[in-house]
Amino acid sequence: MRRHLAYPLVGGAVAAALLLPATAPAAAEPGPRRSPVAREFGNGPERNTAASPVPKQRLGADLSRYPWDLTRGYPRRTVLTEPPENPSDASIKLGLTPYHAIAPMLNDLQRRSDRVSVEVIGRSHQGRELYLVTVTAPESPAQARAQAAMRAMIEDDPAKAARDPQIKRSYKAPVFINGNIHGNEWEGTDAVLRTIERLATAQDAQTRELLARTRLYFNVTANPDGRVNGTRVNGAGFDMNRDFITASQPEVRSMRQVMIDTQPVVMLDLHGYVNGTLVEPTTPPHGQNYEYDLFIKNAYANGLGMEAAIKALGYTPERDGVHPPQIPFRDWEEGWDDWPPIFTPQYAPFHGAVASHTVEIPLRVNNADYTDQPVEELRRRAKINIDVAAAAIAGTLSFVRERGPQLVADQIEMFRRGAAGEPSKRVPEGIVPGFGPEDVYTTTFPRAYVIPAGSGQRSEAAAARLVDHLIANDVRVQRATRPFRLGGKDYPAGSYVVDMHQPKRGMANVLLEAGADISPRVDAMYDISGWSLAHLWGATVDPIPRGDLKGVKARPVSAAAPTGSVPPSGDLVLRLDDPKEVSALNELLGRGVQARWTGDGSVRIPASARPAARAVADRYGVRFARASGPGGGTVLRRPRVAAAASADDVFSLQEMGFAVTPVSTATLNAGFDWSSVDVLYVSSGLNHGQLTAQARRALEDFLAGGGVVARGATGASFNAAAGLLTATAVAGRGDANGTVSVVNAGGPITGGSAPYSFVYSPRWFTDLGPEVTVEQRFAGQGPLIAGHWRAGADGAGGPEAARGQATVIRGVDERGAAVVLFGTEPLFRNHPKGLFPQVARALLWTATQAGGD
Ligand SMILES: [Zn+2]
Repeated sequence: MRRHLAYPLVGGAVAAALLLPATAPAAAEPGPRRSPVAREFGNGPERNTAASPVPKQRLGADLSRYPWDLTRGYPRRTVLTEPPENPSDASIKLGLTPYHAIAPMLNDLQRRSDRVSVEVIGRSHQGRELYLVTVTAPESPAQARAQAAMRAMIEDDPAKAARDPQIKRSYKAPVFINGNIHGNEWEGTDAVLRTIERLATAQDAQTRELLARTRLYFNVTANPDGRVNGTRVNGAGFDMNRDFITASQPEVRSMRQVMIDTQPVVMLDLHGYVNGTLVEPTTPPHGQNYEYDLFIKNAYANGLGMEAAIKALGYTPERDGVHPPQIPFRDWEEGWDDWPPIFTPQYAPFHGAVASHTVEIPLRVNNADYTDQPVEELRRRAKINIDVAAAAIAGTLSFVRERGPQLVADQIEMFRRGAAGEPSKRVPEGIVPGFGPEDVYTTTFPRAYVIPAGSGQRSEAAAARLVDHLIANDVRVQRATRPFRLGGKDYPAGSYVVDMHQPKRGMANVLLEAGADISPRVDAMYDISGWSLAHLWGATVDPIPRGDLKGVKARPVSAAAPTGSVPPSGDLVLRLDDPKEVSALNELLGRGVQARWTGDGSVRIPASARPAARAVADRYGVRFARASGPGGGTVLRRPRVAAAASADDVFSLQEMGFAVTPVSTATLNAGFDWSSVDVLYVSSGLNHGQLTAQARRALEDFLAGGGVVARGATGASFNAAAGLLTATAVAGRGDANGTVSVVNAGGPITGGSAPYSFVYSPRWFTDLGPEVTVEQRFAGQGPLIAGHWRAGADGAGGPEAARGQATVIRGVDERGAAVVLFGTEPLFRNHPKGLFPQVARALLWTATQAGGD
């Protein structure tokens, strides 16, 4: 029986945040971006280049796609380049291993032990190498090939793998341990290094047995930028433990590839700081695309094992300030869920992990403690944290040593259900102690998804991006070679089909399904609750509930087909419905092409620019149409944007090719040259009330004939304080988020957009002045499609109150400032690609209204 204690041992602030309805603090910039709980407090490559380097499309144990050199056995010694010593590495103060010291240690271990191999799996945003260490008993090239063949059979032909005696006898269970994904939660790395060092030389029978029967993969530091800089985020400012659905960051793409290539049965993600140590499994809601019966029995057993290993260290609250571990699944009611696979351990099960865990080590050494605590105290805490993290790893390794073959069998069963297309299994209550009706989540898998070609596709560029992303996530995609009929609809050749009878159907579905409105089932969610790529990434995607795919003639693809084209003669039209089209436009403008803004979400390109158009069509995969009628419209130039914005907003704007100058209250107060920008973008870090008189005068001069695009609480406050558009911004509940139904007015900003949007701390606009035009409203029904959105305790701020209200408005104020306000989150964490063009078009529209030519 689960104890319904409300978060008993977490810090007071966290417990309070969990219990409150959690309205985001007004105008506090981090508010709307993060959960009130803040988990322990927290490009796209162009066109078709996003495809997985190692597509898996063919059934059968095809080793040609295996990424690593199969002519090599283990160890695979790599002499790592040793970075120059960096005395300002933030690890040093804590007595921990600075990034520059890791490569020398690993070089030394590879010399001393034939069990240790290191491979560089990528680079961080700031260019630091990412080290994957494999620890296993030596293997000849033939043995390594045999392991690869078994791994492939488990995924490609799980029914056969389930009967395969060689797999039972000799497949080495893969385990993935991820350290330091949050850069200022350092000690996971040090615990990993300690573990590797011990395993490298230990001669006891248990270690020998472990290394003979497993492959242990350690990502030593998943976030070297953050480790060095002392930040949670990487060098681009992204929380990478929120990025697994989107994979906007190179470090995340490297982790994703490791999970695809190694297919771990167990994964561990080492974090801090929660006292007592937090060990997953999680509270409800549970992701509805998991094979949760296979997962929870293993995850809970390993959770208990880690708890025992941590307790055996003997640290006490009285002497050491270390509280006993807590397991949210067992000890809490809600608030630490495994609903969105944006987190590493919630993503890993879709590649076969049947136990995966966040572990939060206990003693805080970051943020204010890093600055304020004495060095000796910080180092005392850090040492204990390493012990705890190492104990969690050791507990997990014992678990795998004892249960390896069963874990592999459960992984095979997971893939088998997918390949067989079995219905989502309802997990029986009591499958483990405390598993009650509140833990049961299921979905209905469609028979297939179709991403149409031709006139049924809203955006071919978006469709290509989606296909490449699915493939990069190891989802199998086919392309029709003939027209076909499915689900009562005709599709042309060239349409893409995701057959949901595939081993990783959970991965496919969690990305493509609409999702669910889970508001009725829980009151507190940890982070986002809706993300559907079918709704938010701009492409038309048809779920096909039932049907027979026998009539569909299709071939597996390893990348989307090229989509760019330019008609042979005449002026050209480029629609701006996809971020790639915006990138293409910005590149054309950068080349000096005279593009004209036609006011309907398109630009007109003169026939003389055809060679440039061909180049960008090829580069971005965008399609130009032939212009009809006489030319017209405002000549555009690439808007220069001053952005008081979150890191993800800036990242997305730059990805679309805008020239962005970051600004803040402080930079404006220090004196800012407004003549260098056309538009001000405001979503974070700008408080009008804190501007000096001089800075305000300079801003006023800019606003007379200038442009402003603003979003969220900060943007709405700025609009009011600067006296821009006449509108009252109404805030929904602060932690509400998800995909929503909207009605687009068809104006210059939202015309042609899909009838979906994404909100986090939703806002809408009432009491609109005569100068205001509504570009988008919440639908009159819902409007939540998937996610979590309840009214507040006073009954206000819920989805019912938002029905039919304006979400995106525009207007030109008395002083001539052209302004667009968003109550939605069109650039959120670089995710909702299909919404990005609304911001781009807002920037272009304001730039054409203001200044004009
Ligand atoms: Zn963390």
